[in-house]
Parts: sequence; C-alpha cells; structure tokens
Amino acid sequence: MEIKNGIPVSPGVAIAPALVLDSESFRIPRRFIRKDEVDTELKRFELARTKAIEEIAEIRDSVHSVAKDEVGLIFDAHLRMLEDPLITREIPEKIRGKRYTPEYAVSRVFKKIIKPIKEINDAYFLQRVNDFYDIQKRLLRNLLGQRAHDLTKLDRKVVVVAHDLTPSQTATLDKKMVAGFITDVGGATSHTAILANALGIPAVVGLGTITSDISGGDVVIVDGKSGRVIVNPDDATHSKYEARGKGYIDREKRMFEAAAKAERTTRDGTAVNLYANIEWDDEIEQAIKLGGDGVGLFRTEFIYSKFGAHPTEDQHFEVYKRALGMLDGRPLTLRTMDFGADKFASEVGLEREENPFLGCRSIRLSLRQPHLLITQLRAALRVSMLGSVRIMLPMVGSIEEFRQARMIYENVKSDLAREGSQFKPDVLLGMMVEVPSAALTIDSFMQDADFFSIGTNDLVQYTLAVDRNNQYVANLFKHTNPAVLRLVKLVIDTAVKHNKPVSVCGEMAGEARFAVLLLGFGLRDFSVGPTSLPELRTLLSRVTVAEAVALAEKAMALSAADEINELLEAEVERLLPSEEFGE
Ligand code: PEP
Ligand code: MG
Repeated sequence: MEIKNGIPVSPGVAIAPALVLDSESFRIPRRFIRKDEVDTELKRFELARTKAIEEIAEIRDSVHSVAKDEVGLIFDAHLRMLEDPLITREIPEKIRGKRYTPEYAVSRVFKKIIKPIKEINDAYFLQRVNDFYDIQKRLLRNLLGQRAHDLTKLDRKVVVVAHDLTPSQTATLDKKMVAGFITDVGGATSHTAILANALGIPAVVGLGTITSDISGGDVVIVDGKSGRVIVNPDDATHSKYEARGKGYIDREKRMFEAAAKAERTTRDGTAVNLYANIEWDDEIEQAIKLGGDGVGLFRTEFIYSKFGAHPTEDQHFEVYKRALGMLDGRPLTLRTMDFGADKFASEVGLEREENPFLGCRSIRLSLRQPHLLITQLRAALRVSMLGSVRIMLPMVGSIEEFRQARMIYENVKSDLAREGSQFKPDVLLGMMVEVPSAALTIDSFMQDADFFSIGTNDLVQYTLAVDRNNQYVANLFKHTNPAVLRLVKLVIDTAVKHNKPVSVCGEMAGEARFAVLLLGFGLRDFSVGPTSLPELRTLLSRVTVAEAVALAEKAMALSAADEINELLEAEVERLLPSEEFGE
C-alpha cells in the first residue's frame, strides 16, 4: 500500500483499477498472455525494438550533417540504451516468465529504471529520465500503433491516471466507465479539475510522478476531498474509504433534497440566479435536474473536439439548437472560442508559442483569424430565433479589442440581414472579465459591452502571476488574495452602478465559502459547475443580504488571504452545519 497526496479538485471517493495513460496517451493495460503466445509476443517486442533502433539511427544520420557531434551523441546514447541488458534481457524475461504483454513489460521495466533516477532529483539525471521516456514512447508507439488512442470504449470502471488530461482526451473518454481522475500536473482551476467537477468524478491533480508510480491494473483509491491517493490498499483501508465514499454520496443526497425545498431567493427574499457552466450540451439535462436557471457559460471549444479543427456554421448551429431545446426557454450564454494555452492549442494547429498563456489565445486569436469568430457569430445569431441567447467574448483585455469584435459582430448582422437570414437583432454581446487590465478599467467598458461575467480562474492567474495549471505554485493560487477580491468587487460595483448584468463564472462562484462573500459584494447571478448547484442553492437561501454584506466588509478589512479564508469557512459551517449534512 502506498499513500500519495495531491491537490483535491473534485470531491467524492473512487476505488477502481488504474488505467495509466502516458504523456502520449498510450493505454497500457495489465494484461497477460497465454503460454502458446509467448514466442509470437517475444517476436513482436524484438520487432518493435529493432524498428526503434532503425528510427533513431536514421534521425542521428539526418541531423549529423547539420548538428554534428553533440546531437549525434544523444542519439548514440539512445541506441546504447536499446542494447542494454535491462531492455534486451529483462523485458523478454517478463514476457516469458510473468507472461506480461510486451507493452506491460516495457512499462514495468521502464518504471523500475526511471523511478530511482528521478529520486536523485538532480538536473543531469532528470535529463537522462527524459531520454528514457523518449525510448519508452518509441517502443510503445511501435508496439501499439494506432491502438494507442482508443479510449472511447472501456469495458470496466477505471481510475484514469495521466500526466495531464487535455480537453480533447477528456472529451473522447468513455465517461460512464471513469470512476476517478488523477494526474501528475494541474491546479485547482485547471481544465482537468473543471471537467472532473462537471462530470461529478472524484479527482486529484498535481501528484508529481503518479504516472510512473502506478502500473495499469493497480487498485487505486482517490479521495477527491482530502487529495489523498492510495495505491493497492489493504482490506481495512479499502473498507474505510468505501464507507467514506458512501458518506459523501449521502451528503450529496441531503443537499439535493434541501435544495429542492429551498427558496430561489436569499432568506430575506432577494432573487439569486444560479446558472450552470457546461462544456458539452449533454450536461444541460443534469444542470436542470440540479436546479440550474439556465447556462451562464457554454465553453464552446468542445465543439471543435467533436467536429475537428474547423466546424462549419451549421455544425455550430445544430449544437446550439440542441442546447436551446434542452433548456426549454431558459437562457444560454455562448462563449466564443477560447483556444490557446491549455485549451486545444495543438488540436486546431496553433503555432507553438514561447509563453502561450500570454500569447495569441482566445479573443486575440479570434481577431487575428476573424473567420473563426464570424462562423460562430453567424450560427449564434441565427439560433437566437429559437430561444434566449447571449454571446460572450473571452479574455478581453482592452476596449479596442472589444470594439473590434463588436464591429465584426455588427458586420455579421448586416450580412445575415442582406442574405435574408433570420435572427434577433437585440442579442446581447458581453465579455468575460478575466484579465486584470479589463477589471481595472471596467468603467470604460460600460458603454460598449452589454453584460459582464467575471472569469476568476484566469483573473487569479494573471493578477497573482500564478499558473493555474502548475502544481508547484498551487499553494499561491488564492481567490481570497485581497488583490483579487478588490478587482472582483470593483467589477461588480461598477456594473451594478451602471445597471449592467454581471455574473461570476469562474470556479470561485461555485465554492460555498466564496458564494456568500460574492453575494455581499452585490452579486446576484452565479454561474457554476452543475454539481455545485444544490449546495449553493441551499446555502444562499439560508443567508440574508445584510449578513452577506457584513461578512464582505469584515473580509475586506483583513489583509491576509488565509485569514479571509478562515472567516469564510466559519460562515459556511454556520449556514451548512456538518452535523446536518455530514462532512
Ligand atoms: C475563467 O477563466 O474563470 C473561466 C470561467 O474561463 P475558463 O476556465 O474556461 O478559462
Ligand atoms: Mg478563462
């Protein structure tokens, strides 16, 4: 039994065998072969090894003329590794003696090689680790070929173990069979975290080296509340966590029942709207069941994982139409594509950037390649005839950017009118506030933008200079940092003063401890992961606006993020006592 600690991002307990994906998403099941298959499988391994040698030799020769000795030496070292007895002897021994599949044998032997080198934690040796990963990948690629990426059909429940889960990987996973997610990298608002939450799947991220510490088939417990991951638990631990998982499901049930009975207002009768953040239209059904008043953020990037890099206007239209049908009159906020950095950069063929989070992502890309934006705007406008739609632009940093996008929007409307296509002329065009420059100058957007939604995931990242996906700085990613709170308050105050709709759609809005504070800042529209809806509904129905304002004043008088956090947690315990709902 081995215990690891990471960053908890989606509560609940999962217990299932591991499905390990390496960084190229190879799936390495713990499979065994029959005795009569041993010779064929040994040959298959030998073929893969020989092919790897040929490939490396070819690369070495092709770079030799340009890069001469230094690069050549690296590939010579790779070739030597492939001749090392650890590979030439130990892998065949595992195939012959333990009847492992060659893939599983390769992954076991490389784990054994890599783990002690990693533990030395020295830059030189870490570089060697990368060499080993390279060779492992090459062997696996040769062994697995096209089968590497088939994650769409899983035949049993698994805990997915990955270096990171890209949005497109997650989109193709057979979700019914995924009991939990654990990853090497990531932070509390990384996309793996958001997706796990959306799917209601327990998840822990930022575990460092979990993909090399676990083998396919190991039984894994994921405690998505404490961040604990237990590999091959003993019986007592297994039972303890089974009970904990049941306790969590009971809490969910109680919260759901409480929410169903709760008023859709605060205790003193002020209306609060709870919208859902979704990544797929399929999530709408659950969002409504959990009490959502509509969709406050549709992350439309996922359409690109379904239809490829260039979905047509009609493909966009059909997805939006289906969403509106499921919403049955409730409002839908469509966010135009937010590609770049961690979202689909490679899938849509974006150039690699040195510093992608500060690069040509999101609205910047839309303005550089306006056809992407135009296709979406046309579909969104046309679908407006079928329900209540608003359009939201992500990552706006300056008024010029917003005005440029507004101009494109108005042109699209003129084109549609000229073509005789029908649309509602008054569809609102709003923006996310997630770049500090926009938050600080929010008053200057009041004339141009029709509504605002604060994206705290990026706002915290850019205000505090803390990568939202990096586990090494996850302890610095604090929503309660006073710099963040002042910006959030400024945006809400300004929008309220100008009578403009404002919501928060970052993960902050869905966490009980922040929701009362946001209510105290004047927020009435929350957009959150669907699974947070019942807890939030119950919580907000139990507090008065006056109490929330008092709490916000107290919080803003403090200067340390952790003190503010403690204050907010105590308030949640008062409103949603553990005695009533469980831990
Ligand atoms: C945000 O940044 O807070 C947000 C809601 O957008 P995303 O998480 O998709 O970047
Ligand atoms: Mg964002």
